[in-house]
Amino acid sequence: MAEFTPQASCCDSHEPNSLSVQQAQQQISDLIKPIQIWEKRALRDALGYVLHTAIISSAKVPPHNNSAMDGYAIHSADISEQTFRLKQVGIAFAGQAYQGQIKAGECIRIMTGAIMPADCDTVIMQEHVEVNDNIITVYGQHNAKQNVRYAGEDLTIGDRVLEQGHKISPADLGLLASLGIAEVIVKRKLRVAFFSTGDELRSIGERLEQGQIYDSNRYTLYGMLKRLGVDIIDLGVVPDQKQALRTALQLAAEQADVVLTSGGVSVGDADYIKEMLAELGTVNFWKIAMKPGRPLAFGTLNNRLFFGLPGNPVSVMVTFYQFVIPALQQLSGQSAQIKYQMQLTCISPIRKRAGRFEFQRGILFEAENGQLQVKTTGEQGSGILHSMSIANCFILLDENCDGVETNSLVTVQPFADLI
Ligand code: AMP
Ligand code: MG
Repeated sequence: MAEFTPQASCCDSHEPNSLSVQQAQQQISDLIKPIQIWEKRALRDALGYVLHTAIISSAKVPPHNNSAMDGYAIHSADISEQTFRLKQVGIAFAGQAYQGQIKAGECIRIMTGAIMPADCDTVIMQEHVEVNDNIITVYGQHNAKQNVRYAGEDLTIGDRVLEQGHKISPADLGLLASLGIAEVIVKRKLRVAFFSTGDELRSIGERLEQGQIYDSNRYTLYGMLKRLGVDIIDLGVVPDQKQALRTALQLAAEQADVVLTSGGVSVGDADYIKEMLAELGTVNFWKIAMKPGRPLAFGTLNNRLFFGLPGNPVSVMVTFYQFVIPALQQLSGQSAQIKYQMQLTCISPIRKRAGRFEFQRGILFEAENGQLQVKTTGEQGSGILHSMSIANCFILLDENCDGVETNSLVTVQPFADLI
């Protein structure tokens, strides 16, 4: 098997040749150059894409001063401490302005969104008004300029509306539509190819013989990639044979920006992924002092990023979440994302030995006092995939932690809507 040396120093004496989680994340990040290929997309088809260029406003939103209420547009000079009366001389609807003049002592009926007549500066809510024929009586206390929305108060000409690297959300679709923008320039979607490795794996629909199991990793990976909005190339299950792996890796690297595999990356006699990667590309590291997910081969293949994820189903999800998602976001040109973490009381005791960073599966819940608390999902083996289904967060336990007592504070990383 080919030999290679990690580029950063070892994490600690318990884990020779291992990188810390942070070192591994840094090495990955250092290697990535965001994609520069862009395309023009119709607004709706740009949902979930990353902006290649910033959006600068060339118009005012709203374009005109308008009423924020259904009521009456008046001159503020007519406001009095006491009840006062005004003569209604017209009516303005949204999209249908009042064209006439409004003199002192006069008003018009106005609907929400209708243009404010130039003569008026204040709107009285209709709930504060009594109407008799064309005379209105206004009750209560009122302030000049109330209930008016001003031209450009949302966006004005020259505003930086959205920055380059922003991923387009439903709110953005509306915002861009409010400016009349029909097309945007976005980065091309990433293409991610993946396959599972293992002689024991069968696909759903096939009969299991003794010693065989169903391939679940391709399904979790499919789901997570789908949620990230990348183009998916599923290359199936590949047996633990060097030639088959070689062919599959080459095929994947020809088609995709990023290649993912699961399994075959550890130290077993049929674990060929690192060797194949060293033969066909470069291995940057393959061991991280973490649990689950210690073996994770990272490198390049035909100038594409390669992640050889572990085989165990929980390890696949944890390493994908911690390493692959940030890498895909960076490669896609998306600006740096906040990592949501919080300190919460953990009501379960946690057993752990110092040495490795652990990502335990946790359940965030609302305690009786209304506060958020966390507990573990129970058994934490890397093959217990149902722990990922019932979890809604990771509990992060650093290298030095050697266990957690009941009701101690722990660091919690809620799952984004990606798991
Ligand atoms: P490996 O790293 O290939 O030795 O795999 C570690 C463990 O994960 C073994 O028990 C495998 O059977 C299991 N495993 C590997 N790939 C998959 C997969 N795609 N789906 C479910 N289990 C898997
Ligand atoms: Mg295997």
